[in-house]
Amino acid sequence: MDPVREMLTSVLDEVRGEDAGETAQYIPELASADPDRLALAIADPHGRRIALGDEDPFTIQSISKPFVFALALDALGRDEVLRHVGVEPSGEPFNAISLEEGTGRPANPLINAGAIATTGLIPGPSAGERAARIVEGLSRFAGRTLQVDEEVYASEASTGDRNRALAHLLRSYGVIETDPHEVVEAYFRQCSVLVTVADLAVMAGTLAFGGRHPVTGEQVVSARTARDVVSVMTSCGMYDASGSWLIRVGLPAKSGVSGGLIAISPSQFGVGVFSPRLDEYGNSTRGQRLLERLSDALGLHVFEQH
Ligand code: GLU
Repeated sequence: MDPVREMLTSVLDEVRGEDAGETAQYIPELASADPDRLALAIADPHGRRIALGDEDPFTIQSISKPFVFALALDALGRDEVLRHVGVEPSGEPFNAISLEEGTGRPANPLINAGAIATTGLIPGPSAGERAARIVEGLSRFAGRTLQVDEEVYASEASTGDRNRALAHLLRSYGVIETDPHEVVEAYFRQCSVLVTVADLAVMAGTLAFGGRHPVTGEQVVSARTARDVVSVMTSCGMYDASGSWLIRVGLPAKSGVSGGLIAISPSQFGVGVFSPRLDEYGNSTRGQRLLERLSDALGLHVFEQH
């Protein structure tokens, strides 16, 4: 067997028996997910991909956030985007009403408030069009046409009052400059996009390789945008456990409440993992273990001395 595949298989087998945590309970369609699903994929800069475990898709959830931030940065430029959303860790849960005193600017684009503000920046005259443009942008990162899971979307929309409240607050401050209802519907759709770990690995890889897709060769976003996004992932990607993650694993990352997780080894690998049981911060428990093992085994910590 190929030595990399062999190493990945053994890392996957090591964590398979762990069953701490539980699926996200606040979105019915996620609560009922099979908690035992487990998958891992990596992509390198030459378009080589290795995917192991469960091949079925799942919804991307918050892992969409860094990519939509990237699309906004590329469309509008850094200064304009940062007028609407900050780049500081919030130190609060992902769904906190965490808005800057006076301006209402959310702390960063990777918490819900900041993500909804970012979604509102993507050009699109109507909900349908904004959402379609976002799905199309996420598809360019994946290198294939992605679809929305309509059942998860309906589930999000039926339980998303807190996100709606956030959108209306953002509108009251002028951070969202258009209809907040339309923006939050687009946000629900972006969270409900279906991906596999192989998709996540190349999406992460596109950020790891300066915005260039490792398989299609398309320059999806500029190198500067990719660098900005990876920087924010480093400080804010793992909800309010981002600091301990950086010490333990040392890789820019982003998790989502369906149990997906991406990590970036700059210029080397994009990694995608999936396991639906979450810890108290909303991060996949086995996903984190997998990445920790992988980082140790390959010496990937970004501040490691080589
Ligand atoms: N759709 C979820 C929400 O907005 C995404 C949360 C997440 O993955 O952190 O509540």
